Amino acid sequence: MVQAIGVSKRFGHIEVLKAIDLTIPRGEVACLLGPSGAGKSTFLRCINHLEKINEGELLVDGEFVGYREHGGKLYELHERHIARKRREIGMVFQHFNLFPHMTALQNTIEAPIRVNGETKAEAKKRALELLHRVGLSDKVDSYPAELSGGQQQRVAIARALAMQPKLMLFDEPTSALDPELVGEVLDVMRGLAKSGMTMIVVTHEMGFAREVADSVVFMADGMVVETGSPSALFDNPQHERTRSFLSKVL
Ligand code: ATP
Ligand code: MG
Repeated sequence: MVQAIGVSKRFGHIEVLKAIDLTIPRGEVACLLGPSGAGKSTFLRCINHLEKINEGELLVDGEFVGYREHGGKLYELHERHIARKRREIGMVFQHFNLFPHMTALQNTIEAPIRVNGETKAEAKKRALELLHRVGLSDKVDSYPAELSGGQQQRVAIARALAMQPKLMLFDEPTSALDPELVGEVLDVMRGLAKSGMTMIVVTHEMGFAREVADSVVFMADGMVVETGSPSALFDNPQHERTRSFLSKVL
């Protein structure tokens, strides 16, 4: 589903991603770990073409992100085409970024109606199902300011799912939450993983990674240091850098 081959990304002279090779098969969950500045968020943003890569190839569902191939060359797509591809990828951030003047339901139906041209009835039906799925049936008419952080993040997940994405990217979805609210968001993500969604999750929740991830990727200094099953990576890390990181967070 996601394939990175020698992906490099620079900001000015600073190489933030250095020849990243990574494959995440359809239906699998990959958790990305690593110290601050490792390039985790940048990598997610490249998958979404919110950032352009400088070298390498990045494919989602077999297609180049932001480019098309013709006669052995890559041509950058127009913003309109990129927007279409981007709709297939849902993203959830640390800060929930809900529209403050819209209720949970309005937040969830906005993009399906405006971007996908769905009818209001159609969009509303699915939004209500999704809000039910994330445990918020009783909050559909609440505004973000009336919701807890955990509830807002669950609306953000429902809103991303309303676009029926093929792939979901999560960038530290629970880092801004009070500890007692983390579990309810992780439960929703666990359910989503069980339903077969392909997911890339940047997280510091090691328990979640161990339980839910098919693969765990440890990044540092813009490189993939090590990748493996949760038990391989947590119980038997191969690299000193991984060991020292894990000793600080486990
Ligand atoms: P954190 O755990 O703190 O979120 P991260 O692993 O997500 O860290 P990134 O946000 O991807 O790290 O940043 C990687 C490096 O790229 C950092 O050194 C950061 O300063 C730099 N960087 C990120 N975005 C930009 C930008 N738009 N312009 C210049 N440098 C940037
Ligand atoms: Mg980050």
